[in-house]
This record gives sequence, structure tokens and C-alpha cells, in this order.
Amino acid sequence: MNRRPTLWLLLSFALVLLLAFACQQFTGAEYFIDSSSCNGCGECIRICPNDAIYYNQSGKAEIDQTKCTHCANCVAICPNNAVY
Ligand code: SF4
Ligand code: SF4
Repeated sequence: MNRRPTLWLLLSFALVLLLAFACQQFTGAEYFIDSSSCNGCGECIRICPNDAIYYNQSGKAEIDQTKCTHCANCVAICPNNAVY
């Protein structure tokens, strides 16, 4: 049985997934913080490698898009799922 078509299909699928991931990491998606869900715990500020998150005047976290490199650490650590 010739398995090459299946192999190429799987490789193509993996390539598409890889490209989608790379696009989000390096070119695309900006992250934002939903202030109504943020409790100001500061976990995202502590974990951000680029000092891209700060408290706004309301005591809620906010992302400086000029510093953010889309690593998604803040998304993963937020206990309230406030980063999207
Ligand atoms: S980790 Fe979540 S709840 Fe805590 S300050 Fe950051 S956005 Fe707000
Ligand atoms: S995605 Fe990464 S660099 Fe951007 S604000 Fe969150 S922790 Fe900081």
C-alpha cells in the first residue's frame, strides 16, 4: 500500500498549524484585558517579561501594546481569564 499521500496530507496539516501558531505569536493577535473581570491581583504584571502591563487609574491591569511581544504568559496566569 502506498502511504505517501497520507504522509503528505499529515505534513501539510502540521505545516498549516505551525504557520497559524507563528502568525499569532509574531505578527498578529494583540491581547487586551477586560477591566470588568480584572481584580487587580497583579499576577500578570509580575510574569510579563517585557514590563508591558501596568495599573491604570482605576487600579485595573492594562497592556502597553508597544511593549507586548504576544508571549501569552499573562493569558495563562490570570486567575479570572481577564486577558483575551
Ligand atoms: S492577572 Fe488577571 S485579574 Fe490579575 S491583574 Fe492581571 S488581568 Fe487582572
Ligand atoms: S502577552 Fe506576554 S509580553 Fe504581552 S503583555 Fe502578556 S505577558 Fe506581557
